[in-house]
Amino acid sequence: MNSDVLNLIKISEIDKKASAKEPEIAAIEEELESKVRELNNLEWDIEEIRNDIKKSRLEIANSELSIAENNEKIAQLDVKMANAKSERELRALDAESGISKEKITFANQIIAELEAKIDNFKEKENEIATKMNELSELIKETRVSVNERVGVIQEELKSIFDEKEVIAKNIDNKIIIFYEKIRKWAKDTSIVPIKKQACSGCFIRINDRIFVDLINADAITTCPHCGRILYLDKNDEVAMREALKGENATKSTKDSSKDSGAKSAKSSTKDSSAKSTAKKPSSAKSATKSTSAKSAKSTKSSATKSTAKSTATKTAKSAPKKATPKA
Ligand SMILES: [Zn+2]
Repeated sequence: MNSDVLNLIKISEIDKKASAKEPEIAAIEEELESKVRELNNLEWDIEEIRNDIKKSRLEIANSELSIAENNEKIAQLDVKMANAKSERELRALDAESGISKEKITFANQIIAELEAKIDNFKEKENEIATKMNELSELIKETRVSVNERVGVIQEELKSIFDEKEVIAKNIDNKIIIFYEKIRKWAKDTSIVPIKKQACSGCFIRINDRIFVDLINADAITTCPHCGRILYLDKNDEVAMREALKGENATKSTKDSSKDSGAKSAKSSTKDSSAKSTAKKPSSAKSATKSTSAKSAKSTKSSATKSTAKSTATKTAKSAPKKATPKA
């Protein structure tokens, strides 16, 4: 197998390790964020209660004003009653005074109810304030622990990326850039094995010509359907090489021309594959959807995916070992 492909497989394994850390960090950070959200909700609650208290106090002030007005009215009526010229006028003034007295009684009742309400609100306000204090303390502690734990993971990530950098140094930078471009949309399936002559990224069959090219060419090959970087599954490679040995018995110059072949293959595929994949993803994706849906019927896509992934990992791990005796 091409050494760039071997290194890319190693790099993609490292990237998988790194991307597995992302949900870990998110879960830890969520511990803190959920508490901050809870505190924000309590702030809303306490603000609402304080507004209720303000409203109740305003209603009390209005009732007190009504009491004062009615008291004044009663005093004025008293004067008028003292000077009343007839029994009829006196009865009318007395009735009016009675209404004002009723209004005062009603206003006093309302004030008593509102004061009871305010006591209730204040009790709730204190409860929430206590909760908020406790939660604020807890948030402080959680923040320290979250920062510590995230720090540990970030250290792990740093060493993972250091490892990546060491391998990346052995690969042409253009190939790395090409791989990173694919990784933007293909994530952890940017470089996938061919299984039973199908791309295990999009599950579409690779035609014979490209398949034979892939076996013979010592260069980076991409899936013509989805644009992922392809490599041969170990078993398929062994079987296909066996089959090809018979056909290409005369062309046994591979070892001697390996170096120059690799270079020319690289430069030619780099340009063409980069161009084709730059345009590919959008159209390839739509094509992939319908075709993989069809193939899902026969292969049960989820099962195939998981096995494809595990084999990808296995192959990726075992592939470098296999390459050493050849080199
Ligand atoms: Zn594909």
